[in-house]
Amino acid sequence: MTESILVLMHADETGSLTSGSLEAVTAGMELSARIGAPLAVGVVAVNGSLAASLGFGNARVFAVSGEAFAQSRYASDAAACEALCRAAQPSIVLLPSSSRFTRVAAGVAHRLGGLIDTHITSINVTDEDLVQANRSFYRQRIEAVLSRDARPWFLVMDAGTHAAFAGDGVAVEVESVPLELPELRTQVIDLRAPQQNALTIRPEAKLLLVAGAGWTKKQADGQTHAAEAGDLILGFLRNTSASLGSSKSLVDQGGDGQPVLPFLTHMNQIGQTGSTPRHAKGLSTCCHGEEPHVVGWRFISDRRAISLDPNCGWARGKADVVYVADAFKVMEKLNARLAAANASNSAKSAPDADLTHSQDVDAAVVV
Ligand SMILES: Cc1cc2nc3c(=O)[nH]c(=O)nc-3n(C[C@H](O)[C@H](O)[C@H](O)COP(=O)(O)OP(=O)(O)OC[C@H]3O[C@@H](n4cnc5c(N)ncnc54)[C@H](O)[C@@H]3O)c2cc1C
Repeated sequence: MTESILVLMHADETGSLTSGSLEAVTAGMELSARIGAPLAVGVVAVNGSLAASLGFGNARVFAVSGEAFAQSRYASDAAACEALCRAAQPSIVLLPSSSRFTRVAAGVAHRLGGLIDTHITSINVTDEDLVQANRSFYRQRIEAVLSRDARPWFLVMDAGTHAAFAGDGVAVEVESVPLELPELRTQVIDLRAPQQNALTIRPEAKLLLVAGAGWTKKQADGQTHAAEAGDLILGFLRNTSASLGSSKSLVDQGGDGQPVLPFLTHMNQIGQTGSTPRHAKGLSTCCHGEEPHVVGWRFISDRRAISLDPNCGWARGKADVVYVADAFKVMEKLNARLAAANASNSAKSAPDADLTHSQDVDAAVVV
């Protein structure tokens, strides 16, 4: 089958191409090189020519531009993606799994008479040049290898599976695709989102902090210390910009009438019945490390845990390093050292925040 590939991209609220979009470009470039298929990219943005300076090798660059694309809205985004597909006439379409594109991708595939698969983590090519897409089912326990005859085939790529395309810096010509928008019945009049510092789930963070039920259990003095636990956890997140995960026991506690940490919801839960995030490093605190929890750590390669129990699951081969210690004391010292390191970094100006944080965690956790 002769293939041609289109990667659809969109800008974020600052007007830059999203990192998920750039990851999809990397996937598209790799696939294009392997099967020798022509590659095109399509941009949905207020100003589609923003892609011009990045450089996409030999790929044709199409863009749909206009104020209507400043905001995510089904009618305008679906129309834009459809127009880009009709202009590029691809047999395979790659899209990032952003909330914006995930919402319209199936509708666009239907409009073009194509089929769609989602949560794709990698794309392979057989010796017979058959394109195969991989995704997992049942919490990453079953890996499926998919191939289809139907075209166009839409593949929505999971974030964090490819390096973001950096561009070759050679300016390209952007082909503007004209689009007559349908009647827009949805007006975006306001955007309400939690303040950035209230967000605890940060998929792009290098570090994951997991809070377990031990944080709200009675401690050596016979008392619970939920408020102090909350301060220590939030202090760590402030210092490191880490993402916050939780064990099931901790997020279930609200319903059991036990002390709760108000900033945690079931969205934070990691594990068999929770999420399986992708972060370079993870630090588990006050969590036992039972199998149903640890299966959610599948994609976290560097794992450390702080637990009072020397026989916890982490100590039985599930973590690289286990600190058998009181997490209240460790986190207090850790936060003090991180705050001091951050203060000295900001005095030196413009550090690589994420990297610095990860290194400082390594240094500071050895107390
Ligand atoms: C079908 C099924 C699905 C499940 N899915 C999930 C899931 O998706 N995610 C999940 O997390 N669980 C899941 N579970 C539950 C899982 O088996 C465990 O019950 C749960 O993970 C335990 O949470 P925990 O380790 O935080 O709490 P606990 O088991 O109560 O452990 C608390 C730990 O904190 C330590 N501790 C206490 N105080 C301190 C301190 N001061 N300093 C350091 N350590 C301290 C204790 O020593 C203890 O090891 C599932 C279970 C089932 C049956």
